[in-house]
Amino acid sequence: MRFLSTFISVIFLFIVGCKQLNTPNVSSHSTSNQNQAVNISKKDSKCCVVILVGLPGSGKGTHSEYLCKKLGFTYFSMGEALRQEIASGSELGKKVKPIYNAGKLVPDEAADQIMQKFFSTMSSNKLLFDGFPRMVPQAKLLHSSLKKIFVDMNIKVLLLDISEDIAKERVVERFFCKECKAIYTEKTMPFKNFRCKRCGSIEFIKRTDDNAAIFAERVKVYKNETLPVLDFYKELGISYHVIDTSLSVEEVSKKIEKIILKN
Ligand SMILES: [Zn+2]
Repeated sequence: MRFLSTFISVIFLFIVGCKQLNTPNVSSHSTSNQNQAVNISKKDSKCCVVILVGLPGSGKGTHSEYLCKKLGFTYFSMGEALRQEIASGSELGKKVKPIYNAGKLVPDEAADQIMQKFFSTMSSNKLLFDGFPRMVPQAKLLHSSLKKIFVDMNIKVLLLDISEDIAKERVVERFFCKECKAIYTEKTMPFKNFRCKRCGSIEFIKRTDDNAAIFAERVKVYKNETLPVLDFYKELGISYHVIDTSLSVEEVSKKIEKIILKN
């Protein structure tokens, strides 16, 4: 009986390993290849984890999208998961809404609940974390959760480097296509009946937290709470890579891809 269940587990892992799956409900970055989620809850498996750190406006979303599409990563953004939770009107969503809208960090317990929700639906062993963990306690939670699932972890931490002024300008001016989440600014969508270049939609939204006051709060949190996360990983023997984001999107993407594909 024990042999049989082990055998089934091995077959299961083999099937999971052969598929390039994406998580269906966590992000706009999942591709059209939306296979049914398979719950990876087996030990003896390997994973590749990419953690993108950077100020709001540093291009984390843009590069995440590229990596998910090109390299088959499953995407997780705490910000996006929180916005979904708030939009759903759940108890958790109601609890975190005022905290999120003020640009502050949600309590560890709420962050953990959202993260566990992601782990229960993730369907790939290539995981991309966009702007998460935002603080050391979250990094500890994430690390221990990953260790429970995967035995062999290849973790890459990437710091998307950008000046505060440029980041602020990008954040305050940006709009998102309501359909495909493509990012535009007032300069790149210059006329009234502008259509999204990617999907043709004419509806655009502005995130409620994309304003100068909230940006300043998020920068404060970033400096005080998020940058120490880099030291947490360093202590685990995982050095972070600094990526200069003043280059073109293509050049930055290529640099990121090279780091991820190395060993
Ligand atoms: Zn669009």
